[in-house]
Amino acid sequence: MKRIQIYDTTLRDGSQAEDISFTLEDKLRIAERLDDLGVHYIEGGWPGSNPRDEEFFRAVKRLGLRHAKVAAFGSTRRAGVKAAADRNLTLLLDAGTPVVTIVGKTWDLHVRDDLRIPLEENLEVICDSVAFLKTRVDEVIFDAEHFFDGLAANPGYALDCVRAAADAGATLICLCDTRGGSLPVQIAAGVDAARAKLTVPLGIHCHNDCELAVANSVTGIEHGCVQVQGTINGFGERCGNANLVSVIPVLQLKRGYHCVTATQLKRLADVSAFVYELANIEPNKRQAFVGQSAFAHKGGLHVAAVQKNPETYEHIDPDLVGNSQRVLVSDLSGRSNLLYKAEKFGIDIESNKPAVAALLQELKDLEARGFAFEGAEASFELLMQKALDGDRVRYFRLIGFRVIDEKRTEHEPSIAEATIMVEGPDGQIEHTAAQGNGPVNALDGALRKALGKFYPEVAEVRLHDYKVRVLGGTEGTAALVRVLIESGDEHDRWGTVGVSHNVVEASWQALVDSMDYKLYKDRRAAHRRRRAADAARHG
Ligand SMILES: [Zn+2]
Repeated sequence: MKRIQIYDTTLRDGSQAEDISFTLEDKLRIAERLDDLGVHYIEGGWPGSNPRDEEFFRAVKRLGLRHAKVAAFGSTRRAGVKAAADRNLTLLLDAGTPVVTIVGKTWDLHVRDDLRIPLEENLEVICDSVAFLKTRVDEVIFDAEHFFDGLAANPGYALDCVRAAADAGATLICLCDTRGGSLPVQIAAGVDAARAKLTVPLGIHCHNDCELAVANSVTGIEHGCVQVQGTINGFGERCGNANLVSVIPVLQLKRGYHCVTATQLKRLADVSAFVYELANIEPNKRQAFVGQSAFAHKGGLHVAAVQKNPETYEHIDPDLVGNSQRVLVSDLSGRSNLLYKAEKFGIDIESNKPAVAALLQELKDLEARGFAFEGAEASFELLMQKALDGDRVRYFRLIGFRVIDEKRTEHEPSIAEATIMVEGPDGQIEHTAAQGNGPVNALDGALRKALGKFYPEVAEVRLHDYKVRVLGGTEGTAALVRVLIESGDEHDRWGTVGVSHNVVEASWQALVDSMDYKLYKDRRAAHRRRRAADAARHG
């Protein structure tokens, strides 16, 4: 099995993306997760370009990464100075990493119009820079910027540039499609051309401007590259870099290359979610392999088929990449979806057949009233519990709430305050208030505060997303609104829903389901742990 080096540049190329900015602490936490994932190189930043990156290189040494080598990134020396006198190269060495990656020009247009030096002089710049670094660090990777465009414009010169880096002792030459405009067929030809001239190992670094960065990277590997550079979730300048979250499983599961171990591959979905979280970007539901929808089935026929054999509509076993199968509940669905869900939730349906018909009817009624359970599986699970097991799972009773939204002057932001009274498990009454930046926020705060008295674990619940959708739309502000809330704790994420003419009421329904679900699932998990422990003791 051929081994492929995974070179992650999320912390350098990835953080050059619009809307993405990682703090030093973020970068260190991401580095740890990348190490767990089994990537071979972590490009930590550009020490010459900002002080935060210099600090990263100091701090990352204390993390004690077990697997990944850290690389510092920079560019070839300036024209007209010796490498030893170039400040940026000195800063690169000061980073104290075992690997230094430098980017250099290989496209004659850039040498003429950007550097504005003779073509010959650029070859000296490359040679001098690589040779200088090579005697001072273990590995020097040369990123051949715009290699594929350069090859199209002036093939002889582009190849001279990479040969200059190779002759000067570069450990690996990485061929870059920096503008992201190349097609797989051009990548194939370019890698072949470089292979014909060089014996040094090659890497591939693609950008996604034609939505082909993953395909191009895979093509590069198939044509003999041994290293692939990319970022988690494809973050990067413009349209992004090659998405390692797709590249790794494609190479490993579809083409038989070895990138990471099977155990590490299972961490892929987690690492992807973690990086989204730190970047403060909503995860892409439809992301290949790791998205929430990647193995979600909605059509009744599909659901019936995947229950018989998941291979019917799933190209891989989702567990291999840490994802899982989901069945969506919607009016497209029939009995088979419901049975699937019941089984997944551990609800006994055989002894409850009349209840199934009643539940299907209730579901249809609720959907007619504007409820949608596709993004609200937690609400659905609670509903199912109620229909099939008799009682609704409910851990508290509302006595009443009041929300006041006040704007005192035109120039002050409005403030909201909610007061709430709830009855806890043993009939105790809790009466609290909270302020918020809006009525729903205040209500959420007050509900948590009140419930926290009975159930401290509600403090673990975080609101990840809150969506309001106006349904129908013909009645203006009197129209129905549907509120979808996504909550989470350390272990899970769950969605809940509420529908009303009143946005506060709809939000309340979704909030209550969210808290109920948290309490319900924690108890169910504890129950399962106890049962497993009992079973272990007796058998
Ligand atoms: Zn790049």
